[in-house]
Amino acid sequence: MARNNRNAFSELNHEQLYDRWHKHTKHCPSCRQSLILIDKIKDFCQNFTAVLAILALLLIAINLPIKIIFIPVLLGILSLICSYKLDSMRQRFLSSIPKTGLPVVKLY
Ligand SMILES: [Zn+2]
Repeated sequence: MARNNRNAFSELNHEQLYDRWHKHTKHCPSCRQSLILIDKIKDFCQNFTAVLAILALLLIAINLPIKIIFIPVLLGILSLICSYKLDSMRQRFLSSIPKTGLPVVKLY
């Protein structure tokens, strides 16, 4: 009985996980195009964050003033936030279930 319930639950989850992708995104050229663009920008942000982190370490290593090191660190943090935002945006093209938290349930 418990096993049956779990199976039904996981099937429902799987179906819901891909609902938006199957219902819309995979058929919609502009959404697929946006998805590709989001992926590209996200990759860029992640690489940019890594480069800025290395740059900050190099600047620390050559003993530059903190005020100058602050710039790549700040940009790195912004770029990291950007890639997280893009990731959750990407998720919205694929599924109505958000990456974190519960989906919004409309009762009426
Ligand atoms: Zn679309």
